[in-house]
Amino acid sequence: MYAIVGGGLAGFTTYATLRHAGIEAAEIAVFDNDPDPVARWRPRVAAIRQTEMRSESDGHCSARSFPGLAVREARRRRTVGPLLRSVCDRYRPSVVEFLDHVEELRARTSWDASFQPFEISRVAAVPGGFELDGRGVFQHVVLATGHPGLALPHGVLGDRRAVHAYEPHDYTGSVAIVGAGMAAATEWRNALASGANVVSIRRREPLRRPLNVERQFFAKRGLRMFHGAEPNWRAELLTSFSAPSYPPGRAWDEPIERATAEGRFRVASDWRETEQVICATGFKRGYREDQLLRRLVDDHGLDTVERWVVLEPDAGVGRLCDASRTLAIAGVAAQWAYPAADTLAGMKYVARRFLARSRRCRTR
Ligand SMILES: Cc1cc2nc3c(=O)[nH]c(=O)nc-3n(C[C@H](O)[C@H](O)[C@H](O)COP(=O)(O)OP(=O)(O)OC[C@H]3O[C@@H](n4cnc5c(N)ncnc54)[C@H](O)[C@@H]3O)c2cc1C
Repeated sequence: MYAIVGGGLAGFTTYATLRHAGIEAAEIAVFDNDPDPVARWRPRVAAIRQTEMRSESDGHCSARSFPGLAVREARRRRTVGPLLRSVCDRYRPSVVEFLDHVEELRARTSWDASFQPFEISRVAAVPGGFELDGRGVFQHVVLATGHPGLALPHGVLGDRRAVHAYEPHDYTGSVAIVGAGMAAATEWRNALASGANVVSIRRREPLRRPLNVERQFFAKRGLRMFHGAEPNWRAELLTSFSAPSYPPGRAWDEPIERATAEGRFRVASDWRETEQVICATGFKRGYREDQLLRRLVDDHGLDTVERWVVLEPDAGVGRLCDASRTLAIAGVAAQWAYPAADTLAGMKYVARRFLARSRRCRTR
């Protein structure tokens, strides 16, 4: 039996991969509070008014990379436009296209038949598998619990003007936006478009790069180098990927330049004078912020480096996997295996390796 703890996009992608490989819905249990795989993702995307995916055509949850969302859209709209843009690396699927794909795949894979409404608070390694909180023993388990909550700067606690960028909000006439990454850059544009005056609060200047994680670490060669490197260097590299950044390009720069010239955008060091404070400050970080992962590490004495659980290149928890059972981590907590683990590409990477590893185990 397989278990997936956490039914967000990473759990869902793993599920689609297992189902595609012929594993029956009855052989998989998915544990979460909410059966909707985008229950957490959708409101965050809606809050920052994101209409296009950050990922490209292959940023989807199906087991195979091809056909991707460009083919799906081309078929649906009976036009080759998305395919041509995809070939030139200029295709970004719409959020609506992606959500439709999730809905379709959810029905096609019988996801709801495997779903069990339950939050798992402890994973215990037992002979031949893992005991999940009295829900049974599962031979192969993937933990896909996502980000462990939204991060807020200390200074805004108790401030009624403050809202996190990933929570629903409108814009008042004068808005401070804390942070300098992709969500902050999106919010500068949103607030300016609504007519607000914007104050950008930042600790350091954002980097301008197309992706947080360098492209080489999505590919085999870069990953081999990463996996073979010394642990402190790996931790340093992962830390550098979390520095605030957003893509280069006129589409990002023009609204800011125009608003700066009009006196409607400025960088400042505090938010005392604004009516609203939007915290584009991302998520809490590290396994210790996630109760399930923290207990797993403490109960089983797992190796860690700084905020990361040490994983094998295939995202397996080495100390707890053997010839009879598999335990893997997916989503952001799998960065030790795949630096871009919190992307759909990273979810597929882990899902495929989890499947392969489980198949190498002897059957019970
Ligand atoms: C605004 C935004 C836009 C993004 N856009 C893109 C994009 O375009 N392309 C891309 O590739 N990536 C994108 N990402 C990154 C990534 O796809 C998302 O972060 C995604 O939500 C991660 O999925 P997840 O399953 O790891 O986490 P989540 O979606 O947060 O799901 C985790 C699930 O685990 C459950 N859970 C937690 N603990 C337990 C427990 N103990 N027991 C049972 N269940 C538990 C939670 O209830 C939740 O449903 C985006 C992220 C954000 C925030």
